[in-house]
Amino acid sequence: MLNIVIFGAPGSGKGTQSDKLIEHYGLFHISTGDVLRDHIRRGTALGATAKQYIDAGRLIPDELMIDILADVLDDNREATAAGVIFDGFPRTIAQAGALENMLADRGTALSTVIGLEVAEEELIERILNRGRLTGRSDDTLETARKRLDVYHNQTSPLRNYYKERGLYHAVQGSGGIDAVAERISRHLDAITADA
Ligand code: AMP
Repeated sequence: MLNIVIFGAPGSGKGTQSDKLIEHYGLFHISTGDVLRDHIRRGTALGATAKQYIDAGRLIPDELMIDILADVLDDNREATAAGVIFDGFPRTIAQAGALENMLADRGTALSTVIGLEVAEEELIERILNRGRLTGRSDDTLETARKRLDVYHNQTSPLRNYYKERGLYHAVQGSGGIDAVAERISRHLDAITADA
Protein backbone atom coordinates (compact mmCIF):
# COMPACT_ATOMS: atom_id res chain seq x y z
CA MET A 1 0.00 0.00 0.00
CA LEU A 2 1.44 3.29 -1.12
CA ASN A 3 0.04 6.52 0.36
CA ILE A 4 1.74 9.52 -1.13
CA VAL A 5 1.43 13.24 -0.54
CA ILE A 6 2.48 15.24 -3.55
CA PHE A 7 3.55 18.55 -2.13
CA GLY A 8 4.60 21.87 -3.58
CA ALA A 9 3.68 25.46 -4.33
CA PRO A 10 0.86 26.35 -6.72
CA GLY A 11 2.13 25.70 -10.24
CA SER A 12 4.77 23.19 -9.12
CA GLY A 13 3.18 20.39 -11.19
CA LYS A 14 1.33 18.40 -8.52
CA GLY A 15 -1.66 17.64 -10.77
CA THR A 16 0.44 16.83 -13.83
CA GLN A 17 2.71 14.48 -11.90
CA SER A 18 -0.27 12.89 -10.10
CA ASP A 19 -1.70 11.93 -13.49
CA LYS A 20 1.59 10.21 -14.33
CA LEU A 21 1.64 8.39 -10.98
CA ILE A 22 -1.89 7.03 -11.17
CA GLU A 23 -1.11 5.69 -14.63
CA HIS A 24 2.05 4.00 -13.43
CA TYR A 25 1.17 2.79 -9.91
CA GLY A 26 -2.63 2.44 -10.07
CA LEU A 27 -3.25 4.73 -7.11
CA PHE A 28 -6.45 6.59 -6.27
CA HIS A 29 -5.98 10.31 -6.86
CA ILE A 30 -7.53 12.87 -4.51
CA SER A 31 -7.02 16.48 -5.56
CA THR A 32 -8.81 18.66 -3.01
CA GLY A 33 -8.75 21.55 -5.52
CA ASP A 34 -10.55 19.35 -8.07
CA VAL A 35 -13.07 18.23 -5.43
CA LEU A 36 -13.86 21.87 -4.64
CA ARG A 37 -14.02 22.94 -8.31
CA ASP A 38 -16.43 20.05 -8.92
CA HIS A 39 -18.71 21.40 -6.16
CA ILE A 40 -18.55 24.85 -7.76
CA ARG A 41 -19.49 23.40 -11.19
CA ARG A 42 -22.41 21.49 -9.66
CA GLY A 43 -23.60 24.60 -7.83
CA THR A 44 -23.67 23.03 -4.34
CA ALA A 45 -23.74 25.07 -1.11
CA LEU A 46 -20.20 23.92 -0.38
CA GLY A 47 -19.20 25.09 -3.86
CA ALA A 48 -20.55 28.57 -3.17
CA THR A 49 -18.52 28.79 0.05
CA ALA A 50 -15.40 27.35 -1.58
CA LYS A 51 -15.57 29.80 -4.50
CA GLN A 52 -15.24 32.77 -2.19
CA TYR A 53 -12.01 31.43 -0.70
CA ILE A 54 -10.58 30.13 -3.98
CA ASP A 55 -11.14 33.38 -5.87
CA ALA A 56 -9.51 35.30 -3.02
CA GLY A 57 -6.51 32.92 -3.16
CA ARG A 58 -7.15 31.90 0.46
CA LEU A 59 -7.36 28.48 2.06
CA ILE A 60 -10.68 26.86 2.90
CA PRO A 61 -10.88 26.63 6.73
CA ASP A 62 -9.24 23.51 8.17
CA GLU A 63 -12.30 21.93 9.83
CA LEU A 64 -14.31 22.16 6.62
CA MET A 65 -11.47 20.88 4.46
CA ILE A 66 -10.74 17.98 6.81
CA ASP A 67 -14.43 16.93 6.76
CA ILE A 68 -14.43 17.05 2.96
CA LEU A 69 -11.37 14.82 2.75
CA ALA A 70 -12.80 12.34 5.28
CA ASP A 71 -15.97 12.11 3.17
CA VAL A 72 -13.97 11.42 0.00
CA LEU A 73 -12.06 8.64 1.77
CA ASP A 74 -15.26 7.14 3.22
CA ASP A 75 -17.07 7.28 -0.13
CA ASN A 76 -14.19 5.46 -1.86
CA ARG A 77 -13.18 2.82 0.68
CA GLU A 78 -12.55 0.08 -1.86
CA ALA A 79 -10.96 2.25 -4.50
CA THR A 80 -8.53 3.75 -1.97
CA ALA A 81 -7.51 0.39 -0.47
CA ALA A 82 -4.45 -0.01 -2.72
CA GLY A 83 -3.17 3.46 -1.89
CA VAL A 84 -3.87 7.12 -2.44
CA ILE A 85 -2.09 10.06 -3.89
CA PHE A 86 -3.02 13.19 -1.95
CA ASP A 87 -2.64 16.26 -4.15
CA GLY A 88 -3.19 19.66 -2.52
CA PHE A 89 -3.77 18.21 0.94
CA PRO A 90 -2.46 18.81 3.56
CA ARG A 91 -1.83 22.54 3.27
CA THR A 92 -1.52 23.31 6.99
CA ILE A 93 0.00 21.61 10.02
CA ALA A 94 -3.52 21.00 11.39
CA GLN A 95 -4.48 19.22 8.15
CA ALA A 96 -1.31 17.11 8.33
CA GLY A 97 -2.21 15.96 11.87
CA ALA A 98 -5.75 15.16 10.75
CA LEU A 99 -4.46 13.16 7.77
CA GLU A 100 -2.20 11.13 10.04
CA ASN A 101 -5.18 10.30 12.28
CA MET A 102 -7.50 9.49 9.37
CA LEU A 103 -4.96 7.08 7.89
CA ALA A 104 -4.28 5.50 11.31
CA ASP A 105 -8.04 5.00 11.80
CA ARG A 106 -8.05 3.14 8.51
CA GLY A 107 -5.09 0.98 9.56
CA THR A 108 -2.56 2.65 7.31
CA ALA A 109 -0.03 5.51 7.18
CA LEU A 110 1.78 7.84 4.82
CA SER A 111 4.57 6.23 2.81
CA THR A 112 6.29 9.38 1.59
CA VAL A 113 5.90 13.07 0.81
CA ILE A 114 7.21 14.15 -2.57
CA GLY A 115 8.11 17.83 -2.53
CA LEU A 116 8.22 19.36 -6.00
CA GLU A 117 10.70 22.23 -5.85
CA VAL A 118 10.42 24.92 -8.54
CA ALA A 119 11.80 28.48 -8.66
CA GLU A 120 9.31 31.26 -7.90
CA GLU A 121 9.50 33.00 -11.33
CA GLU A 122 8.78 29.71 -13.06
CA LEU A 123 5.76 29.09 -10.80
CA ILE A 124 4.17 32.40 -11.78
CA GLU A 125 4.86 31.75 -15.46
CA ARG A 126 3.28 28.26 -15.28
CA ILE A 127 0.21 29.49 -13.38
CA LEU A 128 -0.42 32.27 -15.92
CA ASN A 129 0.01 29.80 -18.77
CA ARG A 130 -2.51 27.41 -17.22
CA GLY A 131 -4.90 30.34 -16.72
CA ARG A 132 -4.65 31.16 -20.43
CA LEU A 133 -5.22 27.52 -21.41
CA THR A 134 -7.99 26.57 -18.96
CA GLY A 135 -9.56 29.83 -17.86
CA ARG A 136 -9.14 28.77 -14.21
CA SER A 137 -10.48 31.74 -12.24
CA ASP A 138 -7.67 31.81 -9.65
CA ASP A 139 -4.85 31.63 -12.22
CA THR A 140 -4.48 35.40 -12.58
CA LEU A 141 -1.38 37.37 -11.62
CA GLU A 142 -2.98 38.98 -8.56
CA THR A 143 -4.46 35.75 -7.19
CA ALA A 144 -1.33 33.76 -8.04
CA ARG A 145 0.75 36.17 -5.93
CA LYS A 146 -1.70 35.85 -3.07
CA ARG A 147 -1.65 32.04 -3.32
CA LEU A 148 2.14 32.02 -3.25
CA ASP A 149 2.07 34.19 -0.08
CA VAL A 150 -0.39 31.77 1.50
CA TYR A 151 1.87 28.90 0.46
CA HIS A 152 4.93 30.49 2.08
CA ASN A 153 3.08 31.42 5.29
CA GLN A 154 0.77 28.48 5.90
CA THR A 155 1.88 25.53 3.79
CA SER A 156 5.67 25.57 3.45
CA PRO A 157 6.17 24.85 7.23
CA LEU A 158 5.00 21.34 6.31
CA ARG A 159 8.37 20.74 4.65
CA ASN A 160 10.08 20.78 8.04
CA TYR A 161 7.18 18.95 9.65
CA TYR A 162 7.67 16.06 7.24
CA LYS A 163 11.48 16.32 7.23
CA GLU A 164 11.42 15.82 11.01
CA ARG A 165 9.34 12.69 10.47
CA GLY A 166 11.75 11.37 7.83
CA LEU A 167 9.05 11.45 5.18
CA TYR A 168 10.04 14.41 2.98
CA HIS A 169 11.69 13.68 -0.32
CA ALA A 170 12.60 16.72 -2.43
CA VAL A 171 12.36 16.39 -6.20
CA GLN A 172 13.53 19.04 -8.62
CA GLY A 173 10.28 20.03 -10.31
CA SER A 174 11.64 21.97 -13.27
CA GLY A 175 12.50 20.40 -16.62
CA GLY A 176 10.25 18.29 -18.81
CA ILE A 177 7.21 16.46 -17.42
CA ASP A 178 8.71 13.05 -18.17
CA ALA A 179 12.05 13.92 -16.61
CA VAL A 180 10.33 14.97 -13.36
CA ALA A 181 8.14 11.82 -13.44
CA GLU A 182 11.29 9.73 -13.83
CA ARG A 183 12.86 11.33 -10.72
CA ILE A 184 9.70 10.57 -8.72
CA SER A 185 9.50 6.98 -9.96
CA ARG A 186 13.10 6.32 -8.99
CA HIS A 187 12.27 7.33 -5.41
CA LEU A 188 9.01 5.36 -5.28
CA ASP A 189 10.61 2.26 -6.76
CA ALA A 190 13.33 2.48 -4.08
CA ILE A 191 10.84 2.74 -1.22
CA THR A 192 8.59 -0.01 -2.57
CA ALA A 193 11.61 -2.29 -3.04
CA ASP A 194 12.46 -1.72 0.66
CA ALA A 195 8.93 -2.48 1.83
P1 AMP B 1 -5.33 23.62 -6.04
O1 AMP B 1 -6.15 23.11 -7.17
O2 AMP B 1 -4.73 22.52 -5.20
O3 AMP B 1 -4.31 24.65 -6.47
O4 AMP B 1 -6.34 24.39 -5.06
C1 AMP B 1 -7.05 25.52 -5.49
C2 AMP B 1 -7.64 26.25 -4.29
O5 AMP B 1 -8.54 25.39 -3.59
C3 AMP B 1 -6.65 26.71 -3.23
O6 AMP B 1 -6.03 27.95 -3.56
C4 AMP B 1 -7.54 26.81 -2.00
O7 AMP B 1 -8.35 27.97 -2.04
C5 AMP B 1 -8.45 25.60 -2.18
N1 AMP B 1 -7.88 24.39 -1.55
C6 AMP B 1 -7.50 23.25 -2.19
N2 AMP B 1 -7.01 22.36 -1.32
C7 AMP B 1 -7.08 22.93 -0.10
C8 AMP B 1 -6.70 22.53 1.22
N3 AMP B 1 -6.13 21.34 1.46
N4 AMP B 1 -6.92 23.40 2.24
C9 AMP B 1 -7.49 24.60 2.02
N5 AMP B 1 -7.85 25.06 0.81
C10 AMP B 1 -7.64 24.23 -0.25
